[in-house]
Amino acid sequence: MSTVTSGQSERTVAGWDRVSALLLHTERLLQLVENDDPATCDRSVDLELIRQLCGSVAEMREALVDREGQLARVTERSEALARAQADAIVHSAEIIDELERTKQSLSDARAAAEQAAQDTQRLADTVFEQTHDGVLVFHNHTCVACNDNSLDLLNSTRDDVIGRWPVSFTRAKLDTGASAETLLRQICTPGYAEEARSLEVRLQPVETHEFWAEVTATEFRMKDVGHVLLVVRDITARKKFEVELRRHRDFLNNIINAVPDPLSVKAVDRTLVVANDAFCNVLGVTRDEVLGQNADQLLPQHLASHIHSIEDRLLSTGDCSMAEHEIPRADGTTSIVSTKRSVFQDESSGERFIVATSRDITDDRLREDRLRLLASVFNSSTEGVAILSSEGTIREANPAFLSMSWNAEGTVLGRAISEALRFDDRELATALKQVEAGTSWSGKATATDKNRVTRSYWVSLSPSADLEEVSGRIIALVSDITELEATQAKLRRQAMYDNLTGLPNRRFFREHLQRLIEHSPSSSGVTICFLDLDDFKHVNDSAGHSTGDTLLQSVGRRIERVVGPDAFVARFGGDEFAIILTSEQQVLRPLAETLEGLLCAFRESFALGDTDAVVGLSIGVTHFPQHATDVDTLMCNADIAMYAAKAAGKNRIRIFTSDMQDGVNMRHQVQTKLRRALSEGEIGLCYQPKVDAETGQSAGCEALARWRTSSGEYIPPSDFIPVAEQTGLILPLGEVVFQLAAEQACRWFRQGIAPHIAVNVSPHQLRHPRYIEQLDDVLKQTGASADWFELEITEYAMMDDVVHAVSVIETLSARGFRVAIDDFGTGYSSLSYIKSFPIHTLKIDLSFVRDVTHDFQSNAIVRSIVSLGTGLGLTIVAEGVETAEQASVLTEAGVSILQGYYIGKPMSAQQYESWLEEQVGKTWPFVVQ
Ligand code: C2E
Ligand code: CA
Ligand code: CA
Repeated sequence: MSTVTSGQSERTVAGWDRVSALLLHTERLLQLVENDDPATCDRSVDLELIRQLCGSVAEMREALVDREGQLARVTERSEALARAQADAIVHSAEIIDELERTKQSLSDARAAAEQAAQDTQRLADTVFEQTHDGVLVFHNHTCVACNDNSLDLLNSTRDDVIGRWPVSFTRAKLDTGASAETLLRQICTPGYAEEARSLEVRLQPVETHEFWAEVTATEFRMKDVGHVLLVVRDITARKKFEVELRRHRDFLNNIINAVPDPLSVKAVDRTLVVANDAFCNVLGVTRDEVLGQNADQLLPQHLASHIHSIEDRLLSTGDCSMAEHEIPRADGTTSIVSTKRSVFQDESSGERFIVATSRDITDDRLREDRLRLLASVFNSSTEGVAILSSEGTIREANPAFLSMSWNAEGTVLGRAISEALRFDDRELATALKQVEAGTSWSGKATATDKNRVTRSYWVSLSPSADLEEVSGRIIALVSDITELEATQAKLRRQAMYDNLTGLPNRRFFREHLQRLIEHSPSSSGVTICFLDLDDFKHVNDSAGHSTGDTLLQSVGRRIERVVGPDAFVARFGGDEFAIILTSEQQVLRPLAETLEGLLCAFRESFALGDTDAVVGLSIGVTHFPQHATDVDTLMCNADIAMYAAKAAGKNRIRIFTSDMQDGVNMRHQVQTKLRRALSEGEIGLCYQPKVDAETGQSAGCEALARWRTSSGEYIPPSDFIPVAEQTGLILPLGEVVFQLAAEQACRWFRQGIAPHIAVNVSPHQLRHPRYIEQLDDVLKQTGASADWFELEITEYAMMDDVVHAVSVIETLSARGFRVAIDDFGTGYSSLSYIKSFPIHTLKIDLSFVRDVTHDFQSNAIVRSIVSLGTGLGLTIVAEGVETAEQASVLTEAGVSILQGYYIGKPMSAQQYESWLEEQVGKTWPFVVQ
């Protein structure tokens, strides 16, 4: 090839040279032609030819150049091709080598892959068969493959399973006991869920065998068809473990909840991980609410931070801690709790926890406070308190007890109570038994104090059921009653004895008589004598009270002396004495002799300081059982007999007779009739006028009770007033009288007659606590005014109880009533005594008026009463004025008002009105013109 290229090139070069020479030659020719005279020859044709020749030559040259270029390129390509061919040849050889190598390695790889596939198959087979689980492959709920384990587990043959839905799966049960088949079928459905699904079921391949299985389904595709691989694992052991674990957990929870005190466990960050029932109850929360919560939030801020700091310390030291807190309870109260805290570390997690147990010590605190209080009461009590064993040994005693039960040989603690206090031996034994049986006992004991003085104690023993600290013990309370006994003895003496004479009083007399009657054999009798001094009043009035007292003391002594020490002598008050003589005493000295001895002894005078006095004795006698068998009747009989003796004249003895009783009976009849008379309105009033002694003008009237029975019988006041006094009927009678008087006063007031009515008041009324109230009621009801009335109170009634009388009279005066002392001069009061009574009027008794004209003494008494009374600013009324002479003497003596038959007899209201009319223009002779 290269030879061809070189020959061509040599020719081209030679051609070129000729062409170029031709061209040069032509061009020179052309130039000559152009520069020589063109006219000489027909040259135009030549020129054209030359030009064409030149053009051809140029084209030829160009074609040649082009040809040359082409040739060069072909040459170049040929050379490149040749080179490429050579390279390709070399490369082909290399490829052939490479191919050989690749072929070899492919064959190696296939051999390895085949080996690996065989290994995988073997491995899969091994896994499939050797796994402990049962493995089954399902397609359309039909088992298409299974391993031997699954057959064992399901207790089936391959024929039982392959191509079927295993029977065991049909009978499978869930935890709850419900059938698990539907769920098993669900997880065996491809596409039911993406991931593997597990189910725990109870399989029962045969009646007698049951086991728990975890069935896990995994989806896979085989030959582009969805399959499910079911792995059945026997988890019976795990299940049992779980049950056991749950049982353990429940057991532990039960224990924790059974702890009666709040118990909680917190993590280090204070998250509550355990809270028992008591804890939840105290805070009023449920476990679900608080578990996992920050425990600090359950408590008030200050408490939470306090506890927090305790726990911080606890976490840093690891010690136990004990603290008391006041916890607000859910019910609004506050509990005091004692909380014990400790820290423990969980071994598996290494986490630390705070365990807190709290005990409500509110009651303990209260009990402690109470015990402290009891202890302080115990120690500071002035009463002796001791705690005894059931056998009566002193276990504990307060200072008061120790000081009472002083023991010369040392402390009484640990000794029998009988060593500290002297009881009646048998009594103490009975007492201890009684207390042991649960009943309290109390009684007396004595002890000698360290000053060797024997003192009396009142001891109460009671079982100590109330205080658990001392249960089974006996509480002894010991009070010193030495002074009390002395006071009681004194009071008893005062209650039973007459202060003045030291003789037994009426009460003692009654009790003694009662005892004698009760214990006296029916054969033996008892004699009761009532003694009343004659004219004692005169001694008292003339010589004064203290002399009267001295006389009474001497009388007592004289009676005792006469009757002897065995007789029972009493003073009833005033000048009344009484004696009891038993039949035995009368054997030694006949009664008549004793009584005569008394009368005889009283004939002798009594020495009363400067003067001597002789007082007589009236004696009433009655016998038990002849006259009566009860104390009241006996005393009443003796009284009747004594009055009979008095009525018969002084210095007499009267023995009770039934005649005397008749008088009493009569009074009884009157009493019965009077009661009826009061309710049936048989009681009326008459009015006795009074006149002013100085002017002769009317000065009001005195209302006097009158009783005319429905049968027309007239009963005089002297018959019924004393009976009413004795029976208490005087109270309703008094009420009726005041009511009638008030009504009459109102009538007169309306008629223009100024009412001034004196009304009699009995001592009983005066003593009655509701007396004032009754007067108020009548005034209110009738509209009468208190200042229309003058209340006449007898001197005797006033002297009965001076203090009370003064207080009632003050109240009456304050109400506006005037108050008069009636029958003045007959009572015991000395004239000077009158000063102490806040009264308005003195009414001189008619006994003095009767004798005023002829008896010097009466006249002197009237004059002294007038002078004393007017000196005290009192109005002096004389009652029982029967004659003009009396009226004149009294007027002359200075008496202010006159009342009596001379002025006017008691008359009806109507008569009184007429009498008033008669007074107009009338001149009484006693009025000094
Ligand atoms: P007295 O209060 O001292 O009443 C005066 C008594 O003397 C009246 O007797 C009267 O009729 C009577 N008398 C009046 N002027 C004379 C006179 O010139 N000469 C005589 N010889 N007697 C005269 P009467 O009415 O029989 O009352 C007797 C006693 O009964 C009264 O004494 C009084 O103590 C009591 N009495 C009468 N009415 C009541 C009454 O309503 N209540 C109370 N508690 N006692 C009454
Ligand atoms: Ca009167
Ligand atoms: Ca009178």
